Amino acid sequence: MTTVETTVAPTSESTDLRVIPHWIDGAERPSTSGRTAPVYNPATGQVTAHVALADQAEIDAAIASARAGYAAWSGYSIARRQAVLFAFRELLNSRKRELAEIITSEHGKVLSDAMGEILRGQEVVELACGFPHLIKGAYSENVSTGIDVYSTKQPLGVVGIISPFNFPAMVPMWFFPIAIAAGNAVVLKPSEKDPSAALWLAALWREAGLPDGVFTVLQGDKLAVDGLLTSPDVESISFVGSTPIAQYIYETASKHGKRVQALGGAKNHMLVLPDADLDLVADSAVNAGYGAAGERCMAISVVLAVEPVADELIAKIQERIGRLRIGNGAGVDGVEPDMGPLITGIHRSKVSEYVDIAEADGAEVVVDGRGFQVDGAEDGFFFGPTLLDRVPTTSRAYTEEIFGPVLSVVRVQSYDEGLELINSGQFGNGTAIFTNDGGAARRFQNEVHVGMIGINVPIPVPVAYHSFGGWKKSLFGDAKAYGVHGFDFFTREKAITSRWLDPASHGGINLGFPQN
Ligand code: NAD
Repeated sequence: MTTVETTVAPTSESTDLRVIPHWIDGAERPSTSGRTAPVYNPATGQVTAHVALADQAEIDAAIASARAGYAAWSGYSIARRQAVLFAFRELLNSRKRELAEIITSEHGKVLSDAMGEILRGQEVVELACGFPHLIKGAYSENVSTGIDVYSTKQPLGVVGIISPFNFPAMVPMWFFPIAIAAGNAVVLKPSEKDPSAALWLAALWREAGLPDGVFTVLQGDKLAVDGLLTSPDVESISFVGSTPIAQYIYETASKHGKRVQALGGAKNHMLVLPDADLDLVADSAVNAGYGAAGERCMAISVVLAVEPVADELIAKIQERIGRLRIGNGAGVDGVEPDMGPLITGIHRSKVSEYVDIAEADGAEVVVDGRGFQVDGAEDGFFFGPTLLDRVPTTSRAYTEEIFGPVLSVVRVQSYDEGLELINSGQFGNGTAIFTNDGGAARRFQNEVHVGMIGINVPIPVPVAYHSFGGWKKSLFGDAKAYGVHGFDFFTREKAITSRWLDPASHGGINLGFPQN
């Protein structure tokens, strides 16, 4: 089993700052654990609050409340559940700017990007509004004389969701609208780095009419996660985060008899064929490489340039980097930058170390973001857009996920060489090919070992009615997020074989196996 250490050191220092609470029994629940972690505004580097870190008593209270919520909610008719879903969608749509501001203040991404993540989450809410169609069963009449077979889909019970810092609204929304629509009660353990979006969403559910206990927010670290993974009252776990933790979640929750989907890290390549439109490629590489400061699981982190295009492409990317504005994601004097800071100072050091490693291994640092500062925000966790060329594929800067605004160019001689590099990596989340050759693109979609593929599209996140998920170490378990996979994951099917006897058709005693 993978062993992993907690990422945030608990602190019990006394402070005047707000302690961000749990949401239990339909209301904020102040923590009594005495354990907290700091929450930063990454653009200023200041601690703006502390977040509660649950102890066992709080974990138990959260799960008990969810059990009671499930008992009530699973008895609601489909029509009443649907009314709550529609009310939630309307409230979210009309008030999403409030949520975007919360995301920007704790995550750092620019406001328009925060709005974008909410919209992609809202898509799943909208899909979930049509849930009756997706959870209805099937009926086969007269499979044998006088016998009918039908199937129904029932909720699991209490389901756990554990989410990462980089999409504090969208990733939970990949799961909870569908889980709730299907009749489950959700316990969400958000990232301790940006925990407030989950509380805002919880209050919105209350306003939409969701009964208490159906949506619970359990703030915490490894202790809270392990509490969910091992509780006999939690039926399933939906996890999104880094690969070592995803593997740990998958192994531990499976061992405790749960249904698990655990989405992990990524290293997404963009394969550029010589016939591609290089202006489109350069725009796409910059948008997909540096958007959200590279803290997206679908970010492009490697450009595989099939020669002879590398020199021209690098010049175009470099020119575009020169035009990027970096600053506080909330904007200054109403002007929004293109890119905000990284999530923490610790993470910034890690990203910087990867650039050191690439350089030491022989890569050429074309644009260097190390030591980058924003005037007037010198304590913010900023890291400048970084462009590396000739990155050796043996370097850890190539093989591992950096999760920062660092774009690596690897020069290859052919489509086959590029494909082989993509397929030999440990991850298989997303990839993209840029070409005007339909035959090559078709070959690529067939031959590449990756779960989500873009053809002249750099961040191919599927829409809500398709499902999201990678291959290899980017997804542990069988079920992807949302779409039909989501409804299958959050329901259990029953098949019923039924006969209404009339006396004449009674077959008497027969110990043989039932036949048609
Ligand atoms: P993370 O793995 O550090 O944390 C994710 C969650 O796990 C958090 O809620 C955290 O509290 C919890 N956690 C952390 N350490 C733990 C431990 N030792 N034991 C139990 N629980 C623990 O990930 P992160 O830094 O928050 O997010 C970034 C990562 O998520 C990147 O690797 C990114 O690629 C990945 N990600 C993947 C997808 C995807 O769809 N595949 C989507 C978004 C993010």
